[in-house]
Amino acid sequence: VSKMSSHTAETNQRKTCNEVMEQAKDKKPWFGIEQEYTLLDTDGHPFGWPKNGFPGPQGPYYCGVGANKVYGRDIIEAHYRACLYAGVKIAGCNAEVMPAQWEFQVGPCEGIDMGDHLWIGRYLLHRVAEDFGVVVTLDPKPIEGDWNGAGAHCNYSTLQMREDGGIKYIEDAIEKLSKHHVRHIKAYDPKEGKDNERRLTGFHETSSIHDFSAGIANRGASIRIPRQVAEEKKGYLEDRRPSSNCDPYAVTEVIVRTTCFD
Ligand code: ADP
Ligand code: MN
Ligand code: MN
Ligand code: MN
Repeated sequence: VSKMSSHTAETNQRKTCNEVMEQAKDKKPWFGIEQEYTLLDTDGHPFGWPKNGFPGPQGPYYCGVGANKVYGRDIIEAHYRACLYAGVKIAGCNAEVMPAQWEFQVGPCEGIDMGDHLWIGRYLLHRVAEDFGVVVTLDPKPIEGDWNGAGAHCNYSTLQMREDGGIKYIEDAIEKLSKHHVRHIKAYDPKEGKDNERRLTGFHETSSIHDFSAGIANRGASIRIPRQVAEEKKGYLEDRRPSSNCDPYAVTEVIVRTTCFD
């Protein structure tokens, strides 16, 4: 018989995240995370790749169709349906730049819901892939060399940002984020930046882990303002730094801590 403990497990990032989300409730923080991941055979080789080498170079695979372009669509479709059935707020999926790499999007979710929904979405992904005899890795750079890594872009807005003229509040948030780059990098992967170091090289649609940058429609920046947001002067920002294996509770907590309080 176990006794309920009043202590929180060391790996539980939900508690402090929830406390921060409660404090920021009035701001109505919304998040949408793009979860990238890679399918592997049980031998650890990328799923569908030739066993003695590499597929042709990146280019034709992103959002591709056809059995020579994408590998594992039946798994992705089954996962999507499992999420819908379970009530996970999944809102899209796509084949990624590296073959056998995919993405699903969860959101927009308000406050603590982001972490809750993404974790269940990840659980269902591992569970569904298991039925197909395939393994999912959230490693941010599963294949070294000229192959894209995997991230978990975190899209973020507050009520003020979503209202007319909200771009002013988006710019304020970016200004605050620019002053806490290291703090964010530490919160964006489980090894406090060590995992993401392999991915955030400044190449393959990433920014350098050492520098903070922001730009409109710039996929090589830490923070991207989507084109449509710049045109409408309201909406959200995209933080492209979180690693695919990040803890969404840690990511959303630090974003709110940095941007919602003075
Ligand atoms: P990308 O162009 O970077 O590939 P995606 O279409 O994959 O973008 O993902 C966009 C994400 O932005 C989705 O997860 C969506 O839920 C999220 N999103 C959309 N609007 C908002 C908003 N106002 N606040 C926060 N997140 C948002
Ligand atoms: Mn995306
Ligand atoms: Mn992507
Ligand atoms: Mn993105």
